[in-house]
Amino acid sequence: MVEEKDLLGALKEYFGYDTFRPLQRQIIDSVFAGNDNMVIMPTGGGKSICYQLPATLLPGVTLVISPLIALMKDQVDGLTANGISAAFLNSSQAEDVQQEIFSRISKNEIKLLYVAPESLQYIDAVFSSGKISLIAIDEAHCISSWGHDFRPAYTQLGYLKSRHPETPIIALTATADKATRKDICDQLNIPAAKQFIASFDRKNLSLEVRPGNKKLDQIIAFLKKRPDQSGIIYCLSRKNTEELAVKLKSKGFDAEAYHAGLSHSDRIKIQEDFIQDKNQIICATVAFGMGIDKSNVRWVIHYNLPKNLEGYYQEIGRAGRDGLPSSTLLFHSYADVVQLRKFAVNSGNSEVQMAKLDRMKQYADALSCRRKILLSYFGELISEDCGNCDVCKNPPEFFDGTILTQKALSTIFRLKGQESISLVIDVLRGAHNAQVLEKGYQQLKTFGIATDVSWRDWQQYLIQLINLGYVEIAFHDQNKLRLTPLAKKVLFEKEKVRLAHVIQREAAKEPVVAE
Ligand code: ADP
Ligand code: ZN
Repeated sequence: MVEEKDLLGALKEYFGYDTFRPLQRQIIDSVFAGNDNMVIMPTGGGKSICYQLPATLLPGVTLVISPLIALMKDQVDGLTANGISAAFLNSSQAEDVQQEIFSRISKNEIKLLYVAPESLQYIDAVFSSGKISLIAIDEAHCISSWGHDFRPAYTQLGYLKSRHPETPIIALTATADKATRKDICDQLNIPAAKQFIASFDRKNLSLEVRPGNKKLDQIIAFLKKRPDQSGIIYCLSRKNTEELAVKLKSKGFDAEAYHAGLSHSDRIKIQEDFIQDKNQIICATVAFGMGIDKSNVRWVIHYNLPKNLEGYYQEIGRAGRDGLPSSTLLFHSYADVVQLRKFAVNSGNSEVQMAKLDRMKQYADALSCRRKILLSYFGELISEDCGNCDVCKNPPEFFDGTILTQKALSTIFRLKGQESISLVIDVLRGAHNAQVLEKGYQQLKTFGIATDVSWRDWQQYLIQLINLGYVEIAFHDQNKLRLTPLAKKVLFEKEKVRLAHVIQREAAKEPVVAE
């Protein structure tokens, strides 16, 4: 029904491209076939064309529900500049402006109309003004409390299909695991939607995780190797973003803080300057980046552990949208895990959030190809190791860690499971600090039995023991380390334990003197 030459002609005429990216063509065909469609494509994968191109060829208006009110104007300006007539409707517009839009719809002069989910009161008026050929729901994961960015206004969108069953819907998102996908389709009343799941593999993004010690020094070394490159540092709190930006500025870097607490105009200015390469480094909360189309972000650092892999994947996905090699670096610390657990418990959806955090932690602690772990989370299996993550580049070497493990486990045993990781290490290393002396731990038989292992290495080994299941953290009881039943196999039944050598990754890969 739509001919190949029309599709390619529109692709060239309005967007300037000669070929479709993977899945775009199939999705567009399915739109023209009148199906409901669910599209999962990573950030930068090219979702917009999947509804913008059909919009140029369909007889009526394509209605786009998009949460990004702030960016609607930019989107509309961009489309208009490409020769596609587009407009947006929201409650801040004067009545005559709105009337003008309705009248243009009735004259069939608008191809794409953007509406925020909060402005659904206009929908009936839109439908009665003219023909609606397609409804596109962008950032569709916002409808699901299973997703990571739930927006209450989205839950009303189910209304669209029940009220206008004849109008096909295309729902698009960059992030949704299986449960979320099903939830999105159920809530939108499109249970039979065709599902299109693009590969999430972004091969040009290198993946790296490091222990979160001396983060500022590590970041400075990282930046010195990348002069003039744009990047984003994601932090957990607003305060973090500001403090980090100040510190980086004092070291001569071009850094700005960005978070939802800034005024609207400040936020717009920082975004614009970043997009136009007028500032180089943004220290931001996760509020930054949604919908920002900047193709040459060369790196993304996570100063803190993200809450879940969806968020992490979306945030690192802001790097390298132009397809060129880009770096991502995640700092992993147990302090963050403890903090995020608190958030999860208080989230009202604690079981789900906790399970997601566990997967995030498994990724950060991984001793095998990280990309495999990440992609498998999104339901995609790759057979080969990726070669572009820190584990692939620097595979762990294992050694017989039985004696080391016995030392750790018997120390935890003697501390009766009453102390957190740092005090366990202090005892192992024979530290004569106030806390140790106050509690009389210098009397313990295992006091100072492993001074040859550095504090930081001990931390890594204990994390491995936690991941191997010999030790657990009592998150509900001041993060005390306790033995699990498995521990007795090592202590009393001669079970051998293989541990991975701690690799001094940052020392090996980020010389402080720039190359
Ligand atoms: P998403 O919404 O999935 O994050 P976009 O739709 O913003 O991605 O597309 C990301 C970038 O890829 C944009 O700069 C877009 O112009 C470009 N792009 C999309 N489709 C194609 C294509 N077929 N060929 C070349 N570039 C494309
Ligand atoms: Zn790998």
